[in-house]
Amino acid sequence: VKFVYDFTEGNKDLKDLLGGKGANLAEMTNLGLPVPPGFTITTEACKVYLDSGEEPAALRDEVSAHLDALEARMGKKLGQADDPLLVSVRSGAKFSMPGMMDTVLNIGLSDKSVQGLAKQAGDDRFAWDSYRRLIQMFGKTVLGVDGELFEDALEAAKTAKKVTVDTELEAADLKKLVTKFKKIVKTEAGRDFPQSPREQMDLAIHAVFDSWNTDRAKLYRRQERIPHDLGTAVNVCSMVFGNLGPDSGTGVAFTRDPASGHQGVYGDYLQNAQGEDVVAGIRNTVPLADLERIDKKSYDQLMQIMETLENHYKDLCDIEFTIERGVLWMLQTRVGKRTAGAAFRIATQLVDQGLIDEAEALTRVNGAQLAQLMFPRFDEDAKVSQVGRGIAASPGAAVGKAVFDSYTAVKWSRSGEKVILIRRETNPDDLDGMIAAEGILTSRGGKTSHAAVVARGMGKTCVCGAEELEVDTKRRRMTVPGGHVVEEGDVVSIDGSSGKVYLGEVPVVPSPVVEYFEGRMHPGADDADELVEAVHRMMAFADRKRRLRVRANADNAEDALRARRFGAQGIGLCRTEHMFLGDRRELVERLILADTQAEREESLKELLPLQKQDFVQLFESMDGLPVTVRLLDPPLHEFLPDITELSVRVALAESRQEPHENELRLLQAVHRLHEQNPMLGLRGVRLGLVIPGLFTMQVRAIAEAAAERKAAKGDPRAEIMIPLVGTVQELEIVREEADKVIAEVEAASGAQLKLSIGTMIELPRAALTAGQIAEAAQFFSFGTNDLTQTVWGFSRDDVEASFFTAYLEKGIFGVSPFETIDKDGVGSLVKLAAKAGRETRPDLKLGVCGEHGGDPESVHFFHEVGLDYVSCSPFRIPVARLEAGRAAV
Ligand code: ADP
Ligand code: MG
Ligand code: MG
Repeated sequence: VKFVYDFTEGNKDLKDLLGGKGANLAEMTNLGLPVPPGFTITTEACKVYLDSGEEPAALRDEVSAHLDALEARMGKKLGQADDPLLVSVRSGAKFSMPGMMDTVLNIGLSDKSVQGLAKQAGDDRFAWDSYRRLIQMFGKTVLGVDGELFEDALEAAKTAKKVTVDTELEAADLKKLVTKFKKIVKTEAGRDFPQSPREQMDLAIHAVFDSWNTDRAKLYRRQERIPHDLGTAVNVCSMVFGNLGPDSGTGVAFTRDPASGHQGVYGDYLQNAQGEDVVAGIRNTVPLADLERIDKKSYDQLMQIMETLENHYKDLCDIEFTIERGVLWMLQTRVGKRTAGAAFRIATQLVDQGLIDEAEALTRVNGAQLAQLMFPRFDEDAKVSQVGRGIAASPGAAVGKAVFDSYTAVKWSRSGEKVILIRRETNPDDLDGMIAAEGILTSRGGKTSHAAVVARGMGKTCVCGAEELEVDTKRRRMTVPGGHVVEEGDVVSIDGSSGKVYLGEVPVVPSPVVEYFEGRMHPGADDADELVEAVHRMMAFADRKRRLRVRANADNAEDALRARRFGAQGIGLCRTEHMFLGDRRELVERLILADTQAEREESLKELLPLQKQDFVQLFESMDGLPVTVRLLDPPLHEFLPDITELSVRVALAESRQEPHENELRLLQAVHRLHEQNPMLGLRGVRLGLVIPGLFTMQVRAIAEAAAERKAAKGDPRAEIMIPLVGTVQELEIVREEADKVIAEVEAASGAQLKLSIGTMIELPRAALTAGQIAEAAQFFSFGTNDLTQTVWGFSRDDVEASFFTAYLEKGIFGVSPFETIDKDGVGSLVKLAAKAGRETRPDLKLGVCGEHGGDPESVHFFHEVGLDYVSCSPFRIPVARLEAGRAAV
């Protein structure tokens, strides 16, 4: 194998091997752009080194050969005393990764060659400045010396000289600083700063390799689900100098505005500086547009190059460049990061420019970005005072009074206050407070902290790890940078999409994208902004491409209508249990407690017209589209009074010697029906089998509602779904009764109702016997919430708050299996059941309901396994549509 590639040998598609930086340096080299020559050591070499602790045997010679070639080409040798070749050693993994080793510039300088460099450049100051930078970067990143020691020494030198910026230090000052820096290295690292250029280079290369496995890098990979075995490449690049005086400098630029996508001149430039100065914010940069005045020739060339790059990558690129005495050099490019809104705009702009087609455009955006655009947000024009910034853990804009404990959060929110729960970090005891709060703010913890995980699960706004905020829960206050104190009750605003924290109330405006989906804003209208226009067009691209249909989980007409506006093609899950609450609860109570068949029928008779009315409205709102109605599913005790409360009532009545026959009867029934494990108890189809008449009443209500809609010239398309089936026998019994009822209603109304009957697949046994179940089912709907719960043996109501944080931190999974489908486990059951079901019944309709239906990654999986539709909550529908389109590209 070949471990080293010259920049002329690689290309942009070799990111696995050369890393992102190396692959793109090669690509630019081959495009004929001015890239300083160099070579890339592959990720393969890194892997061997990390596995065995040693470089691959061939590496040293290969590096020597490439170095020889580089030296020949540049006409000087690495670190040569009278005229040294200098190089940078730069890390570069496939994905850019914080926590990896920084770059070391100016490798090759030593006590001797610094003199040569000074002579060649005719500039002492420059040479000593470069040398002190090398010792500083090398000391910090390769030898592990605390960087602050160097920074403090630099500060001290500036103070001694009474200057404020480093460019004002003269050669003599820098020379002294070098001595100082070398001393720091000697004491801190216990060795001299290496004078051999090749040793410098080799040590730097190894340090880059090793940095793949720093704790920070590992944590980042786990969180972003980047595999741990990719390794990093190392780029060795000949130096060009931006610190050679005012006609030199360095800068960064975007080929278009990463916030709006607009074309124009976006970037920063810093005169007389080396690369890292720009990012480090050591001196003030000027806008890139000023370069036109400073160095017109380089400016024009840069504009030309940016156009070349855009046309070549067909996307927004960001770049790093350096100008050395009026000569422009390109040091890096990559397809640039952008905001969610800009992603949509840029994708459509590029289609309009003819650079990409619709299918390609779909690959340039994703559902997570769309979801982000759908959250309400803070008014951009509002005057705000930002006091901190943490990790954007769960999106949204939340405003409320600061509270510092769960108890107060609950108490205040009960009395109608909006509160933001502020904690150092949260734990399971904070759950009530988190539910009560508008948003959650913590000063500790990352994306997988308890606060972040639970907030995302609840869809609640959360900013975590805002470390500059000092939270003092005991004294119920928080100190922000600058010393201002936020007391309990002071209003704060947090932005879960940016991680920003503000004092006071920032006005919240609805998302224009939601206004558009709701039909309150129209693309193409004068007031529609470019974002809405872009989203509108991308949704059309997706709808044209996708095979999966998208339905909604909706229980009432209002949700159904919203779902339709959002593009739902039917209802995939209507939960009937919500129709049994409120003032109907008493009827249900009577049904459950009935001792005789007659009593039972009495309550069923009263429930029937109510149920029917629900369905009439629902079918009307979804006229012409399928509506899957799930028969009653949850454990019965959910409809009964709380056992403790009832016991107290009975005891009280007893002691007062008041009549309490009914309460007593109720209490006995509640005791009788009490279950240790309700989620695995009397629910779903089991209810239908043990409470005579319950399911038939529901089926009758559906059938009669459909008949009524038919009579009104409507087009009802009801599908009856039996939950929690584990064996085909259960389904057969329910079916037989249902068929009878439907036939009766059809005969009575004279209408052909075409009701189909199917089942949920949400128990492992159902999935494993799907072939048999399909004999009795016209459709399957995968209930992936319960299926995940039963396959993993996780109680979904408890685990997120209890041990999931630990699981996520240990990397057992990167994301909750209730959020994204566990392809290997739950997913294989879905696959298996889909296949077996279709073998029995080729026209079996397959769908999924449960929140996975609106999760981007899961949607792709459902597309791949050949389901017909996904169903999700109304707000997730646009995301599901977009991802279904992307999956089909
Ligand atoms: P990062 O990934 O942190 O941006 P880079 O490897 O790109 O690290 O380098 C850090 C800075 O040093 C950048 O500004 C880059 O442009 C600059 N730089 C890297 N190599 C060279 C070089 N050979 N000559 C001049 N500047 C360089
Ligand atoms: Mg860079
Ligand atoms: Mg279920």
